[in-house]
Amino acid sequence: MLEKVVIANRGEIALRILRACRDMGIKTVAIHSEADRDLMHVGMADESVCVGPAPSAKSYLDIPAILSAAEVTDATAIHPGYGFLSENAEFAEVVESSGFIFIGPSAETIRQMGDKITAKKVMQAAGVPCVPGTTQPVGEDEDETCRLAGDIGYPVIIKAAGGGGGRGMRVVFEEDKLIESISLTRTEAGAAFNDDRLYIEKFLQTPRHVEFQVLADTHGNVIHLCERDCSMQRRNQKVIEEAPAFGISEEQRNTIGERVTQACREIGYRSAGTFEFLYENGEFYFIEINTRIQVEHPVTEMITGIDIVKQQLLIASGEPLSFAQSDIKIRGHAIECRINAEDPYTFIPCPGKITHFHCPGGPGIRVDTHLYNGYTVPPYYDSMIGKLLAIGHSREGAMTRMSGALHEIVIDGISTNVPLLQDLMHDPAYVEARHNIRYLEDKLEKQLSGTDRDSQI
Ligand code: ADP
Repeated sequence: MLEKVVIANRGEIALRILRACRDMGIKTVAIHSEADRDLMHVGMADESVCVGPAPSAKSYLDIPAILSAAEVTDATAIHPGYGFLSENAEFAEVVESSGFIFIGPSAETIRQMGDKITAKKVMQAAGVPCVPGTTQPVGEDEDETCRLAGDIGYPVIIKAAGGGGGRGMRVVFEEDKLIESISLTRTEAGAAFNDDRLYIEKFLQTPRHVEFQVLADTHGNVIHLCERDCSMQRRNQKVIEEAPAFGISEEQRNTIGERVTQACREIGYRSAGTFEFLYENGEFYFIEINTRIQVEHPVTEMITGIDIVKQQLLIASGEPLSFAQSDIKIRGHAIECRINAEDPYTFIPCPGKITHFHCPGGPGIRVDTHLYNGYTVPPYYDSMIGKLLAIGHSREGAMTRMSGALHEIVIDGISTNVPLLQDLMHDPAYVEARHNIRYLEDKLEKQLSGTDRDSQI
């Protein structure tokens, strides 16, 4: 078993990792920036090391500083959490070549799956359904490019092979704009990702976002933990997630689950991972694989009873999975709301001091947060300050509990998106599960232009 783990992250996920380590008797090292001395997990960890000043580039992204922290504390392994260095192949590589265990897939897998053209090729070969499109980088021959896009059918989306975080993409509705859009996206991609390779895909207009959680050990065992729906999004950022995804049949779950686990076997995947799909008219279309723990992993934990972070630690220790696919049973329906420190109407981040925090509770409620009374949310990082989760026997039951918890929670001193979340729990499209990934943006736009005067948000 791992002896001591460096938690190379901050906020709620750092606390989540610390708790999993504590449950397993693993010692913890919290690394933190100068702005984060007061984080809850820093006080709880066995040891803590300040790795640099507030800006992430000088602390949470400073690879030599993090490795030094692991060395001086004589740690065994490093957990990267999500964001920051979690999908940085170079980091995974130097962690391992410095003699530590990287809690995640191999550097090679991270590199391969971070290249979206390669990822798509590998998935196609493994029988995972993909969005129709090119799997060769777009070349210089303009006529050939127009022919390829025409064959796919407009609208198309031009995507950067090295893109991420919703950047490096451009939608094209007609052939006239194709070549110009390619040239613009190529310049942007070259500057942002140091890789100007592009590919073209069919642009799906009203898809849902449905993703499959997988776990793979180092002994060739791979299972999936069913799927999540994350269609309630704003600017490609998930706002509400749930598991299982509504309207997915047992047969579809088994078919896609089988394909993604097979793909994992073929690429020698290890640790936790997520296969993201767009889902439209009853069909799944792979878009990318996330080679890390996801923000929304707790909804899956609630319906399967499996602690995914603990599994990551066990897999990193070389343990085989202690359950098989047939042991995975879905119990109930879980919903997660992301709580952000931001204005609920303008979405402008709202850091500051929490003057009063009351955490909701009761049966079926889980709160993953690092907030406490008197904590100051710093202005330097992501505005997500916690996740509120509810499980019920049914989707409706989970929504009722979530609604109650959203009324119970008190976060005074700063603005949060809780009023928006309260509104969404009663939104007819959400309640009836009619929404897709464009729904929230459209709703907010309508409210802004005053065409939807019945709504309070
Ligand atoms: P990133 O790595 O930047 O998150 P993704 O490939 O996951 O990029 O795409 C991010 C988002 O862009 C998706 O969740 C979806 O909203 C939109 N998107 C990507 N590809 C398509 C597509 N082919 N059709 C429609 N929307 C798409």
